Amino acid sequence: MAKLALDIDSTLHPYWDLLQRIVRERYGLELPYEEQYDWGINGLERDAVIHCVEETHSDENILAGVPYENAVKTVRGWHAEGHWIHVTSHRRVQTADATARWLDQIDMPYDDLHCSFDKVTRCSELGIHVLVDDSPVNIVRASEAGIVPATLIHPWNREVVERDGVIGAADWEGLRVALDPVLARLGA
Ligand SMILES: [Mg+2]
Repeated sequence: MAKLALDIDSTLHPYWDLLQRIVRERYGLELPYEEQYDWGINGLERDAVIHCVEETHSDENILAGVPYENAVKTVRGWHAEGHWIHVTSHRRVQTADATARWLDQIDMPYDDLHCSFDKVTRCSELGIHVLVDDSPVNIVRASEAGIVPATLIHPWNREVVERDGVIGAADWEGLRVALDPVLARLGA
């Protein structure tokens, strides 16, 4: 059995569209996905960014998330093979109820849910083998902690994905193909 940790935003569902819509509505700024090479948002104060991110995690917005094609199917397959699934998101602990409802709503199987700001630390405590997460910071930290990092490729993590030992794929079918042998090895 392998232990997998799965991020939610920009990993299980296309989060950037939501953040972009909120920033546009509140501040009239455009944040084209293709131009997001890092996590800084030019032209917005840090507090404003935090407000927008908080709004992406309202109950209503959490429950409106539409998973990437093949994400649920792939995780269902891994879970059915006996792998342990930890869902972990960088969001306030108060969002856990809505997040759990969303996971049920999309029919995502999981064994454990963690909504907090200490993702990789928690992964280490749990003995996680593979972390699927788009954040370059988490990818590097996971790598340093001896956890295999994997991610959907986005403009902000393309550079990190080219490094040794980081698994990247354009979509969930690609992630499944790349991770199946890793999970088989860990499960043996
Ligand atoms: Mg993410």
